[in-house]
Amino acid sequence: MLNWVKTTASGLTVLPAAAMIDPTTPQSVALITHGHADHARSGHKHVIATPQTLDIMAARYGQNFAQTVTPLAYGERMALGEVKLSMAPAGHVLGSSQIIVDYSGQRLIAAGDYKRSSDPTCQPFEIVSCDVFITEATFALPVFRHPVPSDEIEKLLQIKHLFPDRTILVGAYALGKAQRIIALLRQAGYNQPIYIHGALRKLCDLYERHGIELGPLLPASAGQAGSAQLDLVGEIVIAPPAAYASKWAQRLTDPLFAFASGWMQVRQRAKQKGVELPLILSDHADWPDLLQTLKQISPKEVWITHGREDALLHACDKMGLKARALSLIGYEEASE
Ligand SMILES: [Zn+2]
Ligand SMILES: [Zn+2]
Repeated sequence: MLNWVKTTASGLTVLPAAAMIDPTTPQSVALITHGHADHARSGHKHVIATPQTLDIMAARYGQNFAQTVTPLAYGERMALGEVKLSMAPAGHVLGSSQIIVDYSGQRLIAAGDYKRSSDPTCQPFEIVSCDVFITEATFALPVFRHPVPSDEIEKLLQIKHLFPDRTILVGAYALGKAQRIIALLRQAGYNQPIYIHGALRKLCDLYERHGIELGPLLPASAGQAGSAQLDLVGEIVIAPPAAYASKWAQRLTDPLFAFASGWMQVRQRAKQKGVELPLILSDHADWPDLLQTLKQISPKEVWITHGREDALLHACDKMGLKARALSLIGYEEASE
């Protein structure tokens, strides 16, 4: 039906705008849904994204990450080639957006990654009606039902209370998850300093600059490099997954490994990582939220990108929604 957006090896091309959405190879015009590295890559000439996403890209790739950047805030509209572009919040991470493309009386929305559960670090997903809705399918199986985030934070606080002689090390992805855990801890009334690995500092500062208050954050690097132990017993320490198995982690006193991810509901994954306290905290829609979102938007067609397309195709069919799988490659489900 809608024939002006097509799938290529590098992502989705919006033909009348001569632009690509979240391209996986360098392009002349890139429309970026959000700052995760598999969606926001470096090397594009002209990048159009929300101001927050542009900031995140600059923090990761340097100020000159593109020749031209065009900030497009939520709710603003701009013309690009023959199309009109606008952005709506996707609720995934700070600055994450659904890209809304209007052309010849038709509207397509590429939602990027999104979630519906509450997150104090970003604006909630907005329902916008459209002809074609492009949805992710990371957790598109009926078994995936994410618990309430505050319950997971409660588990973390209980463990800290039960093991005052251990260092509570929480693995979390540097963009989005780390800040969300910190903000959720603050919401739960935890006002003590939280210790963060050096790799998280830049993005935590960036969140604060955009008005997301994270409270007192101290560097988890006290003590001398080398043999000295890090004296963080009884504290909550947040670090990116890569730091988990590093020399840095070996300097912590009797660390208790926690890990925050939607994948933690798969026991096998938690076991593989040696996680003692899996925290099921996802920045993607779970199965009920995917179906609820499609029902609310009720587009003429659903296009499904990275994840588990089959179950969602089947569910769309049952709901009377026309759907097809795009089978895009290059987006890593595990990176969040
Ligand atoms: Zn993402
Ligand atoms: Zn993704």
